Amino acid sequence: MLKHAKSPLVVALAALVMLAFSDLTPVLSHMYWNVWFKLHSQPTEEQFAIVSLDEGHTLSAKSIAASTQRQAALIDDVAAARPARIYFDVPNVLGEDPVGDAALKSALARSGKLSVLVHRAEMVRYGERAIKTASNTDLGDHLPVTASVWKANAMIYAMSAPSTISMPSTGNIPSIAARGREGLSGSIVVPDFSIDPDAIPIVSGARILQDRSAAASLTGKTVFLTRTSYDADSAYGYFGHGRRPGALLDIAAMHGYLSKWSQQEAGLPLLLLAVLMIVLGRCYVPPRWKAVHYGALAAGILVFPAVLQTRDLLLEPDLCLTLLIVYVPLRAAEKWRERVALTSSESGLPSIQALLSEPSIQNSDVVSAAISQYEQILATLPRELHGEVARQIARRLSLGANDSVIYDNDNGHFAWLERSQNLAELVEHLEGLKALFSSPLIIDGQVLDTNIHFGIDRNWSNQPTTRVQSALAGATEALTKSKLYEEFGLQRLEQSSWELSMHARIDEGLRTGAIWLAVQPQYDVRERRIIGAEALIRWNDPDRGYIPPDEFILQAERSGRIEELTYWTFARAMDMANELGAFNTIRIGVNLSARMADHPNLVDRIAKLAAERSCECNRIVIEVTETFSMNNREMARRNIAQLRALGFRLSIDDFGTGQASLSYLAEIPCDEVKIDRRFVDGIAHDKRLYAIVESVVRLAQSLGQEAVAEGVEDEETMQILAKMGCDLAQGFHLARPMPFADFVALLHAERTQTKESVWRHG
Ligand code: C2E
Ligand code: CA
Ligand code: CA
Repeated sequence: MLKHAKSPLVVALAALVMLAFSDLTPVLSHMYWNVWFKLHSQPTEEQFAIVSLDEGHTLSAKSIAASTQRQAALIDDVAAARPARIYFDVPNVLGEDPVGDAALKSALARSGKLSVLVHRAEMVRYGERAIKTASNTDLGDHLPVTASVWKANAMIYAMSAPSTISMPSTGNIPSIAARGREGLSGSIVVPDFSIDPDAIPIVSGARILQDRSAAASLTGKTVFLTRTSYDADSAYGYFGHGRRPGALLDIAAMHGYLSKWSQQEAGLPLLLLAVLMIVLGRCYVPPRWKAVHYGALAAGILVFPAVLQTRDLLLEPDLCLTLLIVYVPLRAAEKWRERVALTSSESGLPSIQALLSEPSIQNSDVVSAAISQYEQILATLPRELHGEVARQIARRLSLGANDSVIYDNDNGHFAWLERSQNLAELVEHLEGLKALFSSPLIIDGQVLDTNIHFGIDRNWSNQPTTRVQSALAGATEALTKSKLYEEFGLQRLEQSSWELSMHARIDEGLRTGAIWLAVQPQYDVRERRIIGAEALIRWNDPDRGYIPPDEFILQAERSGRIEELTYWTFARAMDMANELGAFNTIRIGVNLSARMADHPNLVDRIAKLAAERSCECNRIVIEVTETFSMNNREMARRNIAQLRALGFRLSIDDFGTGQASLSYLAEIPCDEVKIDRRFVDGIAHDKRLYAIVESVVRLAQSLGQEAVAEGVEDEETMQILAKMGCDLAQGFHLARPMPFADFVALLHAERTQTKESVWRHG
């Protein structure tokens, strides 16, 4: 709910509620109608004419409007031409010239049924149709009367007229605009502004007075005797044409229609439609139809009101336009933020997320590249150059891949789209790309060797997410197997998508407790007493059941989740050490992923975890394997030395299985050596293994370190280790990995036992 509260649409609607009562919305309608009717105007098919009382468009003293005498003469002349009707629409000047007034009255009477008297009035309150002033009310009771009253907008543009008008003196009279359709009380008349006012002929009244034949063109027409001066009180704005005499607006209104809606309500239907379209567009319209959808929305807003207007339906675009004016920039800003999210923060390259929304993914092959030893490369460079590494790699890839856009998945993984080709061609192309990477990267003067491996996905019918994941997983696989490329079949896809959802799954596992730490006791060989325990991570996934640590640690390393997992383990192990209370000599071993040994902030992070818990560093044994790669050795060595200096115990895990065991021992200062169970397991039967284990025990002890035998599975082995003088042992024979609570119970049991035996023997 709160998430939606900030959505551009909701904000825009809230803004609209506030703006609806301001002057902004009418201005928008005003602009809309002005533009629309400027583009769309056509001459009326009916026969109208205007006989002007003014000379030109400005008011002057010579105006016929100022003289009832001349008006009388003009009526006679016009009536003589036999027009269909004469609307006598003149401001009230009665009373200044009694002779003229009398002449006018009799001229109007002479014209008989031809003349209609127009009251031009000013509206006070629309709803009540109250009239403030009215003209010519005393020009003759015998004449038919009509009234013209306009509701104008803030720019004094006529917008609508009431269909009937209540006059103070005469009561209800029909509006000129309604032209006989005034029956619907409460309805308004909406003029048809597409009638081109400038196409209506204007005949000069002064000319007719000079020469009666000038009125000949009026025969059969509906004639307005009216003021044409633009500054006359009767003039209003005419959409698309600017200020025009009121009579022209009356003509437009005669072509208009009756509507029950007020202008205020008229904006709502379109607004609702626009909101509906926006919601549909955001939630249901597939990306490739979005342009069409929003195009239709825009066209609808721009064309609908005008087209419906010709169909006698009033839809004001103002609310809708206001909504869009607020919504569009907000949405654009949101899109911009989304776009930012679609670029890798480090390299500025488009991210994998952006690739997923690339429409051409549906008919291209997805190729992904994994750079070997990427983390090590980054570790040798200051942070601000990390983005440059990615950019340089992307440039090279783009160069070799027909200038394709390269998407960065961080962690040395890139992906892009290739026009489809057969596999042989694609592989040849990848070989070419690989050749490009045979020359080292040069960053900040440093020469960095790299190697590149590829993953490809050509299953066009699959979902983009699946395809990209498949290509990325393929590249990782190719990297681990040192192959040029890997293309995953469908059966591997399921697996890889699981691997790629590792991030989320690990987070969830840690939260739900599906991931937990078991401990396996370690014994002092001579005394058979527990001296410590190794913390071993466990994952009982609700979907996949028990997942062996070897497996998911590897995946966590690949998916960049290992750090989080490792620090969690350290924190938990430190908590355990603290929870052991009185057993304050028991130490807890933690496995440090070899991949992390060279991380620049490793020492700080671990030290901070210990400080936060006031955990004594010597209670924690950090187990590192000797298999980490040669590149990061310097950094790893420094880290390990620093950790040891802080008081952590250091243990070399799986001793004997790595490539450089002895040199490693010489290089890394440590406290204990864990002899791998592949050696320990066979000492009872294999003389050579016996010899190896025995010499490692001696070697360790001569360096002042403790020897730990792993994988002790039977008593015989235990006896042999004791004879050899091996310090510590760990194995199923002694105790299996167990929940921490069981370990605590075991310690208590051991203590009571010892007490008993001391008591018995003592
Ligand atoms: P490791 O560090 O060599 O851990 C000892 C492994 O040997 C454990 O397997 C343990 O259950 C098993 N083991 C102990 N005694 C015996 C025995 O008598 N016979 C046999 N056959 N096996 C025995 P586990 O728990 O499956 O762990 C496997 C590996 O996963 C570990 O090897 C370690 O490399 C890694 N690992 C486990 N927990 C973590 C962790 O928290 N972080 C990291 N980075 N790696 C971990
Ligand atoms: Ca270990
Ligand atoms: Ca081990």
